Amino acid sequence: MEDCIFCKIINGEIPSAKVYEDEDVYAFLDISQVTKGHTLVIPKKHVKDVFETPEEIAQSLFARVPKIAKGIKKAYEPKGLNILNNNGQFAGQSVFHVHIHLIPRYSDNDGFG
Ligand code: 5GP
Ligand code: ZN
Repeated sequence: MEDCIFCKIINGEIPSAKVYEDEDVYAFLDISQVTKGHTLVIPKKHVKDVFETPEEIAQSLFARVPKIAKGIKKAYEPKGLNILNNNGQFAGQSVFHVHIHLIPRYSDNDGFG
């Protein structure tokens, strides 16, 4: 997808701090960290949002989440982790390449929620 920031990140046209990569999925640190270790997990194939996501992409995308979450837990030692996904402008989606936020939590006063 030509004008998609996340496709450009996957292609290496825009630099990113890689957290995880395999043939189907790429994970990287969010440029605007809500908390330390805030990570985005995306499919390598461009799909806009959950409404346009075929089951096989959802399967590989969600299947990798526990592994990536465990890596974040080991690296950052958070006390908890929120997983969220925004779909559509009115739900807070700002980049229209489907992505899952993994947000490590350190205390009830860590800047998120
Ligand atoms: P959304 O609001 O669509 O759920 O989340 C998009 C996320 O992408 C935001 O948290 C934003 O900080 C992040 N983001 C936007 N542009 C870039 C970028 O160029 N690099 C990285 N690493 N994150 C980005
Ligand atoms: Zn894309």
